[in-house]
Amino acid sequence: MVALVVHGGAGHWVEAERDAAVAGVRRAAAAGWRILDAGGTALDAVAAAVAALEDDPLFNAGRGAVLNAEGEVELDASIMAGDTLASGGVTCLRRVKNPVLVARRVMETTDCVLLAGAAATAFAREQGFADFDPVTDRRRARWEAERQSAARDDSVPGTVGAVALDAGGRLAAATSTGGRELKRPGRVGDSPVPGAGNYATAQAAVSATGWGEYMLRMATAKAIATRIEGGATPDAAAAAVLAEMQRVFGTPIGVICLDARGAIGVVHGTEGMPHAWRVHGDREVGARFAV
Ligand code: ASP
Repeated sequence: MVALVVHGGAGHWVEAERDAAVAGVRRAAAAGWRILDAGGTALDAVAAAVAALEDDPLFNAGRGAVLNAEGEVELDASIMAGDTLASGGVTCLRRVKNPVLVARRVMETTDCVLLAGAAATAFAREQGFADFDPVTDRRRARWEAERQSAARDDSVPGTVGAVALDAGGRLAAATSTGGRELKRPGRVGDSPVPGAGNYATAQAAVSATGWGEYMLRMATAKAIATRIEGGATPDAAAAAVLAEMQRVFGTPIGVICLDARGAIGVVHGTEGMPHAWRVHGDREVGARFAV
């Protein structure tokens, strides 16, 4: 049994972009699936799927990420291997094309879990990641408009992620984001922090999207993984934690998750969260905007 789920963020998607977002997550899932189908690892699959979403300017990650209060892009990403609990992440990373791949290098080549700011960018350069400007004209124009308006519209979707199970029974999760638009420089969200926006164990893999400050406090991804390990189905585990977040903080989130048998969970409290999935065995394949 191999399985993969990908999401493109649970923020507010304008109607006109929903089909393109579904096409984008479908392409990203295909990139991850090619690896799993050829016998590759869950870790390679989630890295490839998330890198594909980072390359797509429609999504708030990598190229096309939102700008902070100073008009700069600061990128957050992490990746985690369920079988070893190895995890790597970067936060407030600047001018890199694929933060998830830098996160993976942190995991595989350092004794750190999370590198931040200028030191993370210096590490990326050391590792051969070229200088890359992720700012698109569209995001810049939006930033100009938004910073002057008192009443902000919340139409930028946030965060991309992937979870996968490979033929060896290993689970992995990866998550990447530009964070919240107009955020304070130096702000760290949930996505790079293991247990908050991203988590994987031998029995569960989770990637979440939503307001990071709340997920950091609830240890959202870890809470979902713990419920799956306790025997809940991925859907039930995600729904329970989503309900708790709603009750305690009044904030809706979106989650994709997977267990070691290849059962999938996709839950969102927002109106949509473009996502795509494939499961080998029963050959289930799909992509859609909302559950
Ligand atoms: N979780 C992301 C953050 O707070 C944003 C999002 O998913 O909407 O950085």
